[in-house]
Amino acid sequence: VAQRVSPSRRSSKAAGAERAGTAPAPSSSSWSRQHLLGLRGLSGDELRTILVRARAYDRAMARVGSHTTAPTTTMGADASAPGSALDTRPISNELRGRTVGNLFFEDSTRTRVSFSVAARRLGAQTVDLASVGSSISKGETVGDTAANIAAMGVDALVIRHRSSGACHLVERTLAHLGHDGRVGASQQRVSIINAGDGRHEHPTQGLLDIYTLAERYGRLDSFDLRGLTLAIVGDVGASRVARSDIAGMTTLGARVICVGPPGLVPKALETLGCEVSHDLDSVLTRVDAVNVLRIQFERHESSGAPGAAGAGTNAGGAKGGNVIASVREYAELYAINAQRVARMKRDAIIMHPGPINRGVELTADVADSQRSMVLRQVTHGVVVRMAALSLCLGH
Ligand code: ASP
Repeated sequence: VAQRVSPSRRSSKAAGAERAGTAPAPSSSSWSRQHLLGLRGLSGDELRTILVRARAYDRAMARVGSHTTAPTTTMGADASAPGSALDTRPISNELRGRTVGNLFFEDSTRTRVSFSVAARRLGAQTVDLASVGSSISKGETVGDTAANIAAMGVDALVIRHRSSGACHLVERTLAHLGHDGRVGASQQRVSIINAGDGRHEHPTQGLLDIYTLAERYGRLDSFDLRGLTLAIVGDVGASRVARSDIAGMTTLGARVICVGPPGLVPKALETLGCEVSHDLDSVLTRVDAVNVLRIQFERHESSGAPGAAGAGTNAGGAKGGNVIASVREYAELYAINAQRVARMKRDAIIMHPGPINRGVELTADVADSQRSMVLRQVTHGVVVRMAALSLCLGH
């Protein structure tokens, strides 16, 4: 449900900027951070500042006809068609002359492309560095790689890494080098944006999930999520998306229930401020949204955690950790299928961060249904990443 805001309720500056087809600049007084490393620890005002900025970009994109605010729910739409999130024409020149470096040490489809689109939408240039074909495959540390790219003069580093805490490590490495006088002031000003570090956080995914929930329930004015309940279903323990969702959603007032088998959803997660349940069917009838997670076999395999050894197989046939008894049993107990969706509230939505393993955590008919917000989430990813880049680079 796209929310309409009457012009009288918005600042005349914002309305004027929108009339001119340019992105308005909402107040950034609640933002003074150079980096976005996670959502945990951000205040409600800080979260709202990013989300309100994203909302302004969303409106500006709609005004120039490059991005629609009307919900689209069909899977498999042509992502390169006009009006899709892959349109990279700048809507503002605010980051003109700035360079954003994408440092992806782990596979990514949506996040890497989305950050590139977001940077270009604001007039920035982008540089891509993947682990294959670079010195990362020669054993260089993440800190050294990042310091070298920073020394070439980028303004922001968007980093994905398999190790939890990698982005904090880079941030501290650059700070130390600056302290020692080994890099100049401009390198010390490089913003680090976490694009997913191990099991820790994926803050822009958390923000786009919040944005999608807020849009569906008409909360885009306030981003006040009180009264809404989200279930995060699946491999929560290994999920950086879940940790960012829990942090951001609970700070904005939502109730979050993590659901899955005990091996994937340990009771200890409650220390993050959510509830834990192992009984999906009793939870589903009470929630306003479900965020469905993939079983992240690769993270179990590398963790050395109990149960991580073995020859579990994911739906695609790749080897993975032995974290569940069988994929079939998991799907029986926890897959979101049409029968389960039928028991949910009439307006409740289904989210998924992607990539989907169809038939495991989500059946294809549900993934492609009207309730599925998967592509809407991807569209929102661009505007929240624009907001994150803009605020951190202008901190
Ligand atoms: N794309 C998300 C992530 O990077 C979710 C997943 O991989 O399953 O964590």
